[in-house]
Order: sequence, then structure tokens, then C-alpha cells
Amino acid sequence: MSTSEIDPEAVQAQALERIQSADTEEALRAVEREFLGKQGVVQGLLARIPSLEPSQRGAAGKQANQIKGAITQALAVREAALAHAAMDAERQALGFDPTLPPPTVERGSLHPITQVTRELEDLFASMGYHILDGPEVERDHYNFEALNIPADHPARDSQDTFYCDQEGKLVLRTHTSPVQVRAMERLQPPFRAVAPGKVFRQESTDASHEHTFHQMEGLVVGKDISVGHLIGAMKTLLAGIFGRELEVRLRPGYFPFVEPGFELDARCPFCEEGCSVCKRTTWIELLPCGLVHPEVLRAGGIDPEEWSGFAFGLGLSRLVMLRYGIDDVRHLLSGDLRFLRQF
Ligand SMILES: [Zn+2]
Repeated sequence: MSTSEIDPEAVQAQALERIQSADTEEALRAVEREFLGKQGVVQGLLARIPSLEPSQRGAAGKQANQIKGAITQALAVREAALAHAAMDAERQALGFDPTLPPPTVERGSLHPITQVTRELEDLFASMGYHILDGPEVERDHYNFEALNIPADHPARDSQDTFYCDQEGKLVLRTHTSPVQVRAMERLQPPFRAVAPGKVFRQESTDASHEHTFHQMEGLVVGKDISVGHLIGAMKTLLAGIFGRELEVRLRPGYFPFVEPGFELDARCPFCEEGCSVCKRTTWIELLPCGLVHPEVLRAGGIDPEEWSGFAFGLGLSRLVMLRYGIDDVRHLLSGDLRFLRQF
């Protein structure tokens, strides 16, 4: 086709149609080269101007430049459309719809038992205690024997046990006390340790009994440990939990793994003259404790002639109930969000 035969309007129409039907970046570039390249059609239009009648040259030059501008613009528009389509395809492949509202993120919170456990861990760690963990499926040896509770001991009856095997060698631990023995095997005296965790009892559940609950075992072994050390540690513990000093008292209590053993009561933190929490006595039964029985020290590989210690078994579940005024222990593990959202 000789340039003199080119119809400028047909060139523009053809170029725009080709651009519109180009569906890849490469096709678009090919159209660009064909029409706007150095050997391109538009260049041909410009090249023929000198051969025209002088009166037509100005209009022909203007027209050629308009065509060049229209093609350039159409190329840019088509290029943007192709890029947009590519992005849409990618979104679709990812299953992403930008027009949907954002997903709502529900914020959770820590369970009250976790909150109190962490507070106590901080408190005890600041007093130089190790924070220990122990297995929830425990050997009979650690759960009973090494704690001075042999097979025929009546104390076993009071701790209704879940057995995990026919021989009765594996149990779900009925208290956190086995961690005491494990700690004595691992740590060199003197040391201090607490062990928070779940414990299990096979009993019928009611507002104050649950098959699974939480305790925190404490053990201090050192030289000449006395009941005075025990009371001091318990007062610090209570001040940490309730935010102020509480008066405490010891009553004799019998637990096979301590000698002497005590029940520790604290002044009711909620009243001065008796309330429903303290059953109008102004005292709250808080925890069993005592000086570690020499047999238990021996079972943990520690010489009772040289070392002594105290131990306590804090009922974490009960403490959480006291602190937040929870009236039924079964709420704690119910998984009921209406309960949990309050904390
Ligand atoms: Zn009270």
C-alpha cells in the first residue's frame, strides 16, 4: 500500500479496533509498533506530507498528529484495563472479594484461673521460687507411695482416684503434691518451688465439687525451716492475692506427707463481722500445709537429718472463686462464654 493511498480516518479506526481486541500486553505492544513505530503507519502519514500540495500540508500534519494522540491514548486506556483484569483474576483465584466487609475479629481474654495462676507465678518467682510443672497422668509411686501414702493407707479413700490402667500403677494425679517429690529428685537443697496445675478426683459434682480442679503446690527445703517460715510465706501469698495483709491462724490438720500438718485459715477479706463467704465465722479455710514429713524428704533423696522444709497445697480453683465471688465451681470449666466474658 503506497502512502498516498492511505486514508487517515481508516487508519485511526483500524488502530483503535486492533487495540480494543488486543487481550495481552504483547498483542498491545505489537499494535503499538505497527502504528507508532519508526516504520509504522503513522510515520508513513507524516512522511507523505512533503509530497502533498503546499495548501494541504498543514491540515495533513495536524490530522496525523491527532491520530497519533488518539492511538497513544487508546493504548494507555487498554493497558490499564488489561492490568485491572489481571488483578481481578488474581483476586478471584485467591477467593478475595474486596467488596465484602472485613471479618470481625473476636477478642478473647484469659481464663480467670490462668489470670490468678500467672499472678501467683510472678509473685513466687519474685521471692526466688522455681515454677515447676509435672505430669497429669502420674505414677502411683509419686502420687501416693513417695508421699507417705502406702497402698493400704486410709488417706487413699478420701482421694477418689481415676486409675488409668488395670494394675493401678498409673493414675490421674489427685493433687499437685507429686511434683514435690519430683522437685526433690531434681533440685539440690536449699530451694523453693511452686507447681500449679490440674488435678482430678472421681467424685460426684456439685457447687463445691468438680472432677477436675486446680491447685498450686508449694515446697521450700532448707536449713532449720520452721512453722514461722511457713506462716510468713503464707501471709505474703495472701497479701499478693487480696492486696492487703490478712490475719492467719493454724489449726492442726492431718496429712500423711507433713508432720506437723495444719489447716491454714485467713481472716475473711470480704467482711468484718461475718458474711456468706465465711459462713458468718470471719475465717476462711484456705489451705492445708505443714512441715515436710521426714519420710517424704527421704523418698525425694534428701537427708532429713540435714534438711527440713515446709509444703502447702493451695486450692487455686477455690481461691479464684473467693476472689471473684463465684458461687459454683462447675462454672470454671463449663466453657460457657457468658461466664467467661465477665473476666
Ligand atoms: Zn466474711
